Amino acid sequence: MKPPPLKDDCFAMPPGVEWTPVAVALQRLRDGLHAVTALETLPVEQAGGRVLAEDAIAVRSNPPYANSAVDGYGFALDSLPAGDPAELPLAKGRSAAGEPFDGAVPAGHALRILTGARVPEGVDTVILEEDCSIEPNRIAFRAGLRKGANIRKIGEDVLAGDPVLPKGRMLQPQDVALLCSVGIGTVSVRKPLRVAVLSTGNEVVAAGNPATDAQIYDANRPLLLETIRKWGFEPVDLGHVMDEPELVCAALERGAASADAILTSGGASAGDEDHIANVLTEHANLQTWRIALKPGRPLALANWKGVPVFGLPGNPVAAFVCTLIFARPALMVLSGQDWAEPQGFDLPAGFSKNKKPGRREYQRARVRDGKVETFHSEGSGRISGLSWADGLIDLDEAARTITPGDLVRFYPYGAFGL
Ligand code: AMP
Ligand code: MG
Repeated sequence: MKPPPLKDDCFAMPPGVEWTPVAVALQRLRDGLHAVTALETLPVEQAGGRVLAEDAIAVRSNPPYANSAVDGYGFALDSLPAGDPAELPLAKGRSAAGEPFDGAVPAGHALRILTGARVPEGVDTVILEEDCSIEPNRIAFRAGLRKGANIRKIGEDVLAGDPVLPKGRMLQPQDVALLCSVGIGTVSVRKPLRVAVLSTGNEVVAAGNPATDAQIYDANRPLLLETIRKWGFEPVDLGHVMDEPELVCAALERGAASADAILTSGGASAGDEDHIANVLTEHANLQTWRIALKPGRPLALANWKGVPVFGLPGNPVAAFVCTLIFARPALMVLSGQDWAEPQGFDLPAGFSKNKKPGRREYQRARVRDGKVETFHSEGSGRISGLSWADGLIDLDEAARTITPGDLVRFYPYGAFGL
């Protein structure tokens, strides 16, 4: 089953908008997109990294039966004779994991019970073996145990029928464990989102090839492909094309045939050599969003026969920031996940800055000794700063004078799923 494609005008901005604030652009993306990946049913053991297509409901409780949390002795607390230390004769037999005791433990008796073993009838409390003095036929221990001690109650973690994970969740290793534990054997999930990446530019050559002194190596395509892989999507490499409309067209055509979304970098402004913008205008209802953002304007958004195209800036830092801020939540929605806001921290600045009003700024930053440091340059081509940094700071549109110790919002790369 394949959901319907996106509407042709899914990226249209209301007329008259000059500079779009980041929050407005994000809301626009959120409103215009929906999941585009098909559904399939998979055994839970093969579903890690997939997105749940339906809420997962516990088939069974966890624990499914009351069991002992320790190796020890089980008894009914109310049947314990008065006195300290308390003494109990041992009943014959034992209850072990996978080998439950068959029958009821008589009042005033204790039964050997091991970790994970089902608690038999006649037992409501377990004493840890290390807290007992043990003789062949009886045990003695200090009185004062609480009823229910060392017993994991049925369903104390999850009850059968409870929702355990919501639709839209990309299954993490711990989620797979949870689904198994509550008796779910197969899940309805979405096919992985395929994301194609294209680099453009007459000056760009792929890594590992000889380059003239008027060429630069393609940094964006490997950057974006690896980012997509880390996000759990399926990367599709469209390679690099020269700035020629027919080549750009052909590459986008290949992308639309083999992927659910396309990321391009370079050529997205309105210059003579910005062939991505020209081709998208002609064939794919280009919407150029002039976002009040640094680094990273403009963002070109288009719809190539139902396949969304995100035209990222050519400068690698801007391409990366736009990918984290805009492409990530958009791709998550396309993949069937929920819209995601990165979760950041307010931390004291270890720097000074006079920020001008107008644009929201994301700067490369890292945390040392509890303070935020920013990269020494804001140059958008300085790729080394991306590796130097552990994340980004987010300074909103307002003018601001930052002095050391002022709180600034820091997003570790992890907040963007990296
Ligand atoms: P453009 O948006 O095409 O004008 O490119 C802006 C800047 O980014 C130029 O300096 C380009 O050389 C550079 N650039 C474009 N694509 C890439 C790429 N794939 N890798 C590294 N730098 C790039
Ligand atoms: Mg270019």
